[in-house]
Amino acid sequence: MKLPVYLDNNATTPCDPRVVEAMLPFFTEHFGNAASRSHAYGWAAEEAVQKAREQVAALIGAEPSEIVFTSGATEADNLALKGVSETYAVKGRHIITCETEHKAVLDACRHLEKQGAEVTLLKTGANGLIDQSELEAAITNETILVAIMYANNETGVIQPIQEISEIARKHAVLMMTDAAQAVGKIPVDVQHDGIDLLAISAHKLYGPKGIGALYVRRKGPRVKLAAQMDGGGHEKGMRSGTLNVPAIVGFGKACELAMQEMAAETDRLTILRDNLEQGLLGLEGTSVNGAQAPRLPHVTNISFKYASGEGLMTGFNRDLAVSSGSACTSASIEPSHVLTAMGLPDDLAHSSLRFALGRFTTEEEIGFAIRTVKESVDKLREMSPLGDFNHI
Ligand SMILES: *Cc1c(COP(=O)(O)O)cnc(C)c1O
Repeated sequence: MKLPVYLDNNATTPCDPRVVEAMLPFFTEHFGNAASRSHAYGWAAEEAVQKAREQVAALIGAEPSEIVFTSGATEADNLALKGVSETYAVKGRHIITCETEHKAVLDACRHLEKQGAEVTLLKTGANGLIDQSELEAAITNETILVAIMYANNETGVIQPIQEISEIARKHAVLMMTDAAQAVGKIPVDVQHDGIDLLAISAHKLYGPKGIGALYVRRKGPRVKLAAQMDGGGHEKGMRSGTLNVPAIVGFGKACELAMQEMAAETDRLTILRDNLEQGLLGLEGTSVNGAQAPRLPHVTNISFKYASGEGLMTGFNRDLAVSSGSACTSASIEPSHVLTAMGLPDDLAHSSLRFALGRFTTEEEIGFAIRTVKESVDKLREMSPLGDFNHI
């Protein structure tokens, strides 16, 4: 077993060796520019990009022509929100999103607000889910977009996307979803789910970093998007810049593998995740955040009463790579905006850890993680001035 044990697969995943193998020839032998139409180097690159476009589209039930390659989900979120906001400003300037979104969505919305857009931030219940009647009540004649993430990166909570898009459609409002954590992990289908725009990131599904895509619906309705990057008119004018061919090839391969292995991986990871949860819930004063909602199979976010997440991680960070529920940068001690939105008090939000298992996680590693966390929690609580934990 290699230390530290990696249980931070929602932050990023390692590249699958099969993905790396598929990418390698496109750095050297097939180095062409996919936009070069006049020679075989360009054609080979364009052909590889087209194949990847088909692989990405297939994973989400889209047409290849609906895939716009970007540098990742952050850029895809920005392109969707700012592009729609610009194009549909004649209709209205109101966007509805929710408090537990990723910062890429929240900060892009804040940017649009400064430019005169109106943004409604829906609250979530203790289970992390938005209230569908609140969503419907928030829609006005000015509303142009509903942006609700598919699955939350901190808790794994899955929103009822199909129902949400039905509400949006009923009011002729576009529906966008940040699906960076969902695609490749659970079935996502833009037709079935009624999604108009969807953001994906390759490095969350065992592909390379720095590549992702925005799905943009082409019919029923045809979504129009103002480009946020001007230049050579690549990607149907929606995202200029020479395509990162090796990364796109790797992204495509990663999507193909995710599709092939999803069902088996879901079963395997659910068992491992449930074992981890059961093991840790054996400790007193622990609770799973979002446990009352549907969740991704490989994620659990656990609060350890009277044991700070930072303290725990200091206790085991040599051996265990996890993330605190809080979105702390090293300098900030802000508790997680996701957990506080779910109603956790600051101290409990600070006492939470996210465990995200992945394709390469083993049973042995889960056993090790349970022992390591238990030891660390016990040690921290022994040292705590609050003393007696029999009464937690
Ligand atoms: C990781 C992540 C992003 C950012 O993706 P990048 O490709 O790293 O820009 C956006 N949204 C969610 C939900 C994520 O988990």
